[in-house]
Amino acid sequence: MTAQRTHIVVIGGGYAGTLAANHLRLRADVEITLVNPRPVFVERIRLHQLAAGTGTAAVDYGTLLGEGIQLVVDSADRINAADRTIELVSGAVLNYDYLIYAVGSTGVVPAAVPGAVEFAYPVAEFEYAERLRDALDELHPDTPIVVVGAGLTGIETASELAGQGRRVSLVCGGLLGPSLSRAGRRSVAKWLHRLGVDVLETAVVREVRSDAVVLDSSRPAGAVLPSALTVWTAGFGVPDLASRSGLHADALGRLLTDETLTSVDDPRIVAAGDAAAPSGRPLRMSCQAAIPLGAQAANTVLSRIAGTPPAVVNQAFTGQCVSVGRSYATVQLARLDDTPVDLVIGGRVAASIKEAVCKGTVWGIRREAAKPGWYRWLKGGKRAERLADDVVTVP
Ligand SMILES: Cc1cc2nc3c(=O)[nH]c(=O)nc-3n(C[C@H](O)[C@H](O)[C@H](O)COP(=O)(O)OP(=O)(O)OC[C@H]3O[C@@H](n4cnc5c(N)ncnc54)[C@H](O)[C@@H]3O)c2cc1C
Repeated sequence: MTAQRTHIVVIGGGYAGTLAANHLRLRADVEITLVNPRPVFVERIRLHQLAAGTGTAAVDYGTLLGEGIQLVVDSADRINAADRTIELVSGAVLNYDYLIYAVGSTGVVPAAVPGAVEFAYPVAEFEYAERLRDALDELHPDTPIVVVGAGLTGIETASELAGQGRRVSLVCGGLLGPSLSRAGRRSVAKWLHRLGVDVLETAVVREVRSDAVVLDSSRPAGAVLPSALTVWTAGFGVPDLASRSGLHADALGRLLTDETLTSVDDPRIVAAGDAAAPSGRPLRMSCQAAIPLGAQAANTVLSRIAGTPPAVVNQAFTGQCVSVGRSYATVQLARLDDTPVDLVIGGRVAASIKEAVCKGTVWGIRREAAKPGWYRWLKGGKRAERLADDVVTVP
């Protein structure tokens, strides 16, 4: 008689989930299933390239997943923690012994801004980026385009389009690159200027029309900025699977966990990536954070199977890499706890670093598939001390 193998289901095959699935293969006696709505891995950090026609963002899972990992192309509709089952959108039901929740994040277009849902194009998901690319293909290269939101996604999208000769305005809503230091913002502004992007730093979009956006400030209130196509990058959300399944989530919908990434509701559910909120104090949404979180979530599951205490989250940031078109970038250096310092690398050298980082993410996932346990991450940042200084309330 053969012993039943422990079944681990990973929901979400992004950076966190794919790395986690590969890392779980450190144990030979587990069965691993990865559930993802698409049959390909999406490099979300290249979606602005997909939209602008300067790159692709889909990678065959066959080159990324370790041997024996079963890929189920479907979406989780509901997690039933009490009987350890997952209902899939197709109607199928999966049983699990442990579950890794890695459903990532999504771009959100606010219903509160008139016309935004109707006319603006988001970019933060594969299908959105494809739709945006198709719409851009229909436009004359000289027609005005407005990108709304000047976080890293907005900066990368605006510059990628300008690098293709498009006429682009970037409406920042207050500050260009709010997560950057002063030096970082200066650097990004310089390269955007070189690409001819019109940066409207304090302007806020009040309304989106089919051929324009209406601004709130910076230009005379109510000024109408022509826009044959408006791209909306301001705001991220997460899938509501956790709360829909009756699991505790933070205000945005990220699964609420303890510092071992274990759901506060159930020791058999562990979270990673953008959709995880350890102690209600999530890490910055980024693939930089998601990949090590994937490894640590897998380690937590492996510890529980082995009957040993799981480790608490320990990972550090190094900075932010923001591409400004294909030829320039800004590398914003940061302390280990992710606070930016006034030190940047800019221009062509930074662009090579950024490209190496993008290639490195997929390469690292592949290496982990070939050799589970190979992946190592930078530790530090004194998270425990920072949390102790905060008042953390976890139900
Ligand atoms: C244009 C752009 C540029 C970016 N650039 C950078 C960058 O330079 N550096 C950086 O660190 N970060 C960057 N990011 C952010 C980064 O892409 C995300 O933080 C990262 O993808 C998070 O990884 P994840 O594994 O948590 O989620 P994701 O990569 O979003 O993967 C989640 C997966 O789960 C799937 N899923 C969702 N719901 C379900 C369900 N119900 N059932 C099954 N599967 C489900 C999704 O389809 C997806 O495949 C960028 C993002 C964008 C949009």
